[in-house]
Amino acid sequence: MEETKEQLNRRTFIQTLSAATIGAGLSAPTILTAGADTAKPALLGGPKAHPGQFPQWPIFDKSEHSALSETLESRHWGRLNNNSTVKKFEAEYSRLTGAERTLAVSSGTSALYTILGALDIGPGDEVVIPVYTFIATYNVVALNYALPVFVDTDPESFQIDASKIEGALTKNTKVIMPVHIGGSPADLDRIIPIGQRAGIPVVEDACQAHLAEWKGKKVGTIGLAGAFSFQSSKNLNSGEGGAIITNNSKFADACYDFHNQGRGGNTSGFLAGSTGTRGTNLRMTEFQGSLLRAQMARVNAQTKHRWENAQYLNKMLAEIPGITPAKLHAGTTMSAYHLYMFRYNKAHFAGLSREKFLEALTAEGIPNSPGYGRMNSETYVTALAGNRHYLSVYGEKRMKEWLEQNQCPQNDHLTKNESVWLFQTMLLGSRQEMEQIVEAVRKIQKYAKELA
Ligand SMILES: *Cc1c(COP(=O)(O)O)cnc(C)c1O
Repeated sequence: MEETKEQLNRRTFIQTLSAATIGAGLSAPTILTAGADTAKPALLGGPKAHPGQFPQWPIFDKSEHSALSETLESRHWGRLNNNSTVKKFEAEYSRLTGAERTLAVSSGTSALYTILGALDIGPGDEVVIPVYTFIATYNVVALNYALPVFVDTDPESFQIDASKIEGALTKNTKVIMPVHIGGSPADLDRIIPIGQRAGIPVVEDACQAHLAEWKGKKVGTIGLAGAFSFQSSKNLNSGEGGAIITNNSKFADACYDFHNQGRGGNTSGFLAGSTGTRGTNLRMTEFQGSLLRAQMARVNAQTKHRWENAQYLNKMLAEIPGITPAKLHAGTTMSAYHLYMFRYNKAHFAGLSREKFLEALTAEGIPNSPGYGRMNSETYVTALAGNRHYLSVYGEKRMKEWLEQNQCPQNDHLTKNESVWLFQTMLLGSRQEMEQIVEAVRKIQKYAKELA
């Protein structure tokens, strides 16, 4: 019988492993002679499906070294100088995304906070956000004493359920803030018209979605503005950092002012005609700007690499009963795959709990996470209903209502039982490593009864 490519790969891998184990002075596990198909899960004493190491993050070379030391030597460490590196980064990021303007800021949270500041969001205003997101999306709303209103999750895509946005709007809603979670676009064809009908801006939290595209356009350029994060874990990174992109230059100016103590770009005074009345310092440093310029040289190739590996994983994992990769909405022409998300159904794994499944995956050498939980139920969030400022602005009745309104049953089910994440750094691995991920899942399924 002819061996398939996958079997061949497995065989080669097992031979390598066997040699390595013997070389290390250990006896080879007996399972190795029984053939790959019957190899036990690592949790039951078998060999790891992925014995190696996924690529380390971040990735850098001499170009980062020289960029940083040039900045150091220049003695211009902050952006307020005449030859700003941050300014050069902004022009390059605009070219990369096709946006008219970019404003670099100190973090992704700062980017969102600046956008809300420039829109003058404040007490009494409501902002619609998905429940399935990083806490920063919520925090920037609460920092302005505005009311964050949660929308449930579409379990198939893990994105905001666009069919539930309209029902979350009130006369006080001032912004709709979808998140492109995992780096995949939210359903913008449904979301943008909702904003247009309501006469309120759509702000894209694209903090995980560098270079993701909706119908050939980069995300962040479709709503009024998009926010990006360059925090350590993100697909483009300078330790900390963030950016706002927009095609509205007046709005870009307002953002600049807000992030620069309410002061304009070209003068040390307040910008003539500026309508802003608040500001703070959220400027990016020249060190961050120079790191980003060097990192940006790799971002296109890395994005393509993740995308291709994710497509490969999608194809292989979709064949496994009980594993459902996150669906991409129809307008998606590129996902940044900051996270590789899928649903796990224990009914196809002899009732093996998601937690035990993840433990078995970890033992196989496959890093993973159950992902976000139920933000709407966290004490950190529900305590807002008892916050004295919120009680005085919104009243007890509205805050009680808010708690009830925040129920997200689809998200509850998804996050309690089914959601699984793999990480962007794993997608930078080889095709063989993608096969090893699949092999790990197959082994666990085969031995699910013993593992349960
Ligand atoms: C990372 C992230 C943020 C915040 O970015 P920071 O740079 O960490 O402040 C906001 N929203 C989402 C969805 C994120 O993933």
